[in-house]
Amino acid sequence: MVFRKVLIANRGEIAVRIIAACRDLGIRTVAVYSEADREAMHVLLADEAICVGPPPATESYLNIPNIISAAEITGAEAIHPGYGFLSENADFAEICESCHIRFIGPPATAIRKMGDKAQARQLALEVGVPVIPGSEGTVEDEEQARKLARKLGYPVLLKAAAGGGGKGMRIVRGERELETAFRTAQAEAARAFGRPDLYMEKYLIEPRHIEVQVLADAYGNAVYLFERECSIQRRHQKVIEEAPSPVLTPKLRQELGEAALRLVRAVGYVNAGTLEFLVDRDGHFYFIEANTRIQVEHPVTEMITGIDIVRQQIRIAAGEALPWTQADLQIRGHAIECRVCAEDPWTFMPSAGTVTRYIAPQTFGVRIDTALYSPYRVPPYYDSLLAKVIAWGEDRAEAIARMARALTLLRVEGIRTNIPLHLQILEDEAFHQGRFSTQYLESVLPHLQTVASSK
Ligand code: ADP
Repeated sequence: MVFRKVLIANRGEIAVRIIAACRDLGIRTVAVYSEADREAMHVLLADEAICVGPPPATESYLNIPNIISAAEITGAEAIHPGYGFLSENADFAEICESCHIRFIGPPATAIRKMGDKAQARQLALEVGVPVIPGSEGTVEDEEQARKLARKLGYPVLLKAAAGGGGKGMRIVRGERELETAFRTAQAEAARAFGRPDLYMEKYLIEPRHIEVQVLADAYGNAVYLFERECSIQRRHQKVIEEAPSPVLTPKLRQELGEAALRLVRAVGYVNAGTLEFLVDRDGHFYFIEANTRIQVEHPVTEMITGIDIVRQQIRIAAGEALPWTQADLQIRGHAIECRVCAEDPWTFMPSAGTVTRYIAPQTFGVRIDTALYSPYRVPPYYDSLLAKVIAWGEDRAEAIARMARALTLLRVEGIRTNIPLHLQILEDEAFHQGRFSTQYLESVLPHLQTVASSK
């Protein structure tokens, strides 16, 4: 049987999403919250709620002793970490298990093997999954970096081995830039992740970011739930995601899926996970990194497969076997997600304050994952994601049209949001035709802003 009670070590829309999955399974929920989140939606909706500390995440949502105590006091049998915070912390996964609390995620060993990006790269090579030409493991010093960059040819990319969220990444366009780039990337990596280790890759020109969602159970069964196209990015951060990718052929889709499953098997992966790839203009794909947790953009996959990924995560953690094989899975229609954030649409400056009015029509084919209500004071301590708007259609054009309609009906007043940017992208011709790369958004941004301001 699945668990009776689950603690959710997160906040915002993902905490609400996990509460919903627990309800479906008849599981009671425990919310944890910081002092800044007393009035947060996840606190209001969970069956029980416990305060775990002051507003800064390091003292609350990242406070392992307090979160474990909250689980023990409430008798929660398992912890769902959501994304961000403790979700990819192998030590936390291990501590949970040693306290006889099930961690709803992969085993600590798998998190460790995938968590070091330089090591994950080596592993991919060993199981015959292509990676971008670059260093074997980490780059020790500037001298080694210079030699390798000459061999690879500029531009190259320096990346933090412990990286995430686009931090500690530096494009180096020529040898003159190498020394400074190496030092700043090292310093940034040390500051953000506590480790200065860097590795190097050839910098691909205009690739697409395509990732594969996988599910694996504890009995050696694993399937891929196809791909998500996440090329609409700003500063290496995703803005719009969709599934399926407008450019994959069935053959390439299968090759990517099978490559993802080779990596899953190589590390003894269990639970939901994502393998990220870059795909070049000629259809060659290269593994870049693994995310050992639920992802922000998981709803687009749920919409095209009909599979509740969060519910599956809980079932897998409770020891259930996957109920299907690869042959049972199919793609139906097309789904798009827009991340609505509390920020200026053109300068991207964060916008804190109170949402004075929130209207979200939930109409046919549209799903909104959010923890917003009004009035609601957006706390300045956490990330700026306010809502995820997900639209489904029989085909891509219908999904885009429904998304545009949904965004024009959505009202978030009192703070600035990036809804105007989304609307402009949805109208853009290149976006409509599916002709874009990870460089698309930054290159069309000035044009989109001009069009928006002339309206
Ligand atoms: P993070 O973990 O910090 O998010 P990733 O390795 O997942 O870093 O890369 C994030 C994004 O950075 C990718 O989606 C892509 O846009 C860009 N990127 C990463 N590696 C390369 C590369 N070798 N060439 C070109 N772009 C890259």
